[in-house]
Amino acid sequence: MTNPTKTTIPMSDKLAGVRYELRGKVLAAAEKIEAAGEKVLKLHIGNPAPFNFHAPESLHESVAAHLRDAQGYTSSKGLLSARTAIVDNLTVRGVENIKADNIFMGNGVSELIVMACQALLNNGDEVLIPAPDYPLWTAAVRLAGGKAVHYLCDEAEDWFPSVDDMRAKLTPNTKAVVLINPNNPTGAVYSEDRLKEIATFAAENNLVVFSDEIYSRIVFDDAVFIPMAKIIQDLDSRVLCMSFDGISKNSFAAGFRCGWMTLSGDLDGAADYITGLIMLASLRLCPNVPAMFAVEAALTQPDGMADLLAPGGRLYEQRALAHRVVNSIPGMSCTMPKGAFYLFPKFDPKALDIGNDEDFAMGLLQEHKVMIVPGTAFNYPTEDHFRIVFLSEIEELDMAVNAIKTFSIARQG
Ligand code: PLP
Repeated sequence: MTNPTKTTIPMSDKLAGVRYELRGKVLAAAEKIEAAGEKVLKLHIGNPAPFNFHAPESLHESVAAHLRDAQGYTSSKGLLSARTAIVDNLTVRGVENIKADNIFMGNGVSELIVMACQALLNNGDEVLIPAPDYPLWTAAVRLAGGKAVHYLCDEAEDWFPSVDDMRAKLTPNTKAVVLINPNNPTGAVYSEDRLKEIATFAAENNLVVFSDEIYSRIVFDDAVFIPMAKIIQDLDSRVLCMSFDGISKNSFAAGFRCGWMTLSGDLDGAADYITGLIMLASLRLCPNVPAMFAVEAALTQPDGMADLLAPGGRLYEQRALAHRVVNSIPGMSCTMPKGAFYLFPKFDPKALDIGNDEDFAMGLLQEHKVMIVPGTAFNYPTEDHFRIVFLSEIEELDMAVNAIKTFSIARQG
């Protein structure tokens, strides 16, 4: 029987302004092409497993061996043995005096980003977020009633964050600053000097520092990843530092959904906020328990990552190929990523006779069945960038980046 009074069901007002375009319009178009039986080369999402990057055996073995110990809830902060392994790993990285009690495990860093924003922000509070960003940060701030204010990362300076732009965008409502290091989508790895500048800026303005370090082990060449918690510790700043890391990228175990958030710096000043975090962590009872048994293995067992990142290694060679081909395209340029597994090339819409980044992504998909993500999906202010993930095996990556080349050259007549 039809119901004459039936109405539509709208999403809540809380979701106004919340977007996640990484799985948006271009993906929907790609799915249509696939449904029609054609293959799409996917350079759009940082999910290592489908590209034959596998978590080390030791992680699988540890999870399998402990499955029977994983039936009950754990502490709401997560498994103690995992948090203890994280403390030890931080000590090796020069971050001292962290207690397991100051670590919260989550179902991926994603859950913890949302939790950290929900517990901190009142309506109208502002958070400085990089442009380009990882869009969950912007979405999480908006969902929590806050306002995402984007500061620029400067392409001309290897995509380093502009502290001048942070300063220009500071208001009395600014509560926190986000950095993503190593960076998705630009591949930048920040220097000690720039991290110190950001820490000093945060201290001067009483800002919480959210440091998203999910790619902390994926660095190339002479780049060195320095944990923000170490910078803040060494400066002895009165700043609360929240560092985010996990096994999704560093151990190629994205599907395990396991990440952690470490609190350091001025914990006394943050006591009330921490009470809020504990409340939110308790409301979700605890994170997925089997996956937490992978953490100790991930942080202590050899895993071959160094080989993948060195000349001759898959990640190294795939990065080199993608960077070389993109930079050989007239009207296109791209910095060399020093970390993570993304390229964020710039193109000249006039030279390519193409309206904007979304037209570029759609055109490439329709004509060559290659999928990339438009730069504006990362809250980048101009419509002339896109992101490539260089995880595909070299033959497929070669085809895909050369399709980008063919597409771009054809448009230049
Ligand atoms: N932060 C950044 C910068 C990311 O790129 C990603 C995933 O791509 C995440 C967080 C989410 O990580 P997780 O799988 O731990 O939820």
